[in-house]
Amino acid sequence: MKEFNINSLVRKNILQLQPYVSFRDHNEFENPVFLDANESPFGEFNRYPDSTQKKLKQKLSEIKNISVDQIAIGNGSDELIDLIIKVFCEPKNDSVLVMNPSFAMYGLYASINENQVVKLNLNENFEIEKYDFLNVIKENQLKIFFLCSPNNPTGNSIEDIEFYIKNFNGIVVVDEAYIEFSGKKSSIELLEKYPNLIVLQTFSKAWGMAGARVGVAYSSKEIIKLINTVKSPYNINSLSLNKILEAINIQYNIIENIKNTLKEIFWLENEFQTINCIKKVYPTDANFFLIEFKDSEKVYEKLLEKEILTSKRSPQIPNCIRINVGNREENIQLIQVLKSIES
Ligand SMILES: *Cc1c(COP(=O)(O)O)cnc(C)c1O
Repeated sequence: MKEFNINSLVRKNILQLQPYVSFRDHNEFENPVFLDANESPFGEFNRYPDSTQKKLKQKLSEIKNISVDQIAIGNGSDELIDLIIKVFCEPKNDSVLVMNPSFAMYGLYASINENQVVKLNLNENFEIEKYDFLNVIKENQLKIFFLCSPNNPTGNSIEDIEFYIKNFNGIVVVDEAYIEFSGKKSSIELLEKYPNLIVLQTFSKAWGMAGARVGVAYSSKEIIKLINTVKSPYNINSLSLNKILEAINIQYNIIENIKNTLKEIFWLENEFQTINCIKKVYPTDANFFLIEFKDSEKVYEKLLEKEILTSKRSPQIPNCIRINVGNREENIQLIQVLKSIES
């Protein structure tokens, strides 16, 4: 196990805080009369939700084979990214490391919290060069490294993640928003070895529940306690909590979802080969493609004319568009428009 003093990384004011404790959520009752929270006695959603998200954590603990107190629930993993920065980064003084290109939210929340963002440029295959990583951590004082794998918007999984966790003298957040599509092992299994690791997962992608806004952080008990200390007590509403629990309990067919997405990826890869305006399709471990076109601006506009919305990535990634996998009907529409573009 890596030697690490987590407290030396935490903001001083956060270390002194006690988590907000809702009395009713931390005790068992048989037939309670709730006159403690100024709620209405009337209505279907009159009660505050469980601030500890007990039932959901219990379920996830069984599924992931990890202790309940190593799990924090966020209003999407977006909220967890913000909370993690709030726990560790002193406004104005601290910096975070992000891969470039990668998910924009890390930089956005760092900026909102007045923290600097240091960018680690990926190589032409969108991999991290270890030499560059070692250089950047030598030259900068960094609190958090956001490592996204599979990476958005490039689609590839990062090799040898353990190397970065081992060598980074701060918190490493491995964002696994797309892990279910990749067939790769989760870094959750590295938590026992590395007290500086946080793994993020979400119900927004493979689970098909982006509207519910539920993300999960797995880490050490100490870090999870800190995240729970800074979160809003009732950050997950009861409608979302119920929907997510329902989805897990009825064994909502996530496997089927993933299988269908992989089938569509396979179908699309074949179709892409026949399309003139495409220069390169990057390999994907996720539910989207990064595609280089001869003229991405033209393609983007043509798609938009037909109300097909995609994610423009140029000029940051020249001539590239990120396109996610739809259902067959949607994918056929996409291919039809692409086919109509000469070059
Ligand atoms: C989509 C996505 C998320 C998910 O965010 P939620 O707030 O959970 O919806 C997280 N990280 C990455 C890299 C993503 O692409």
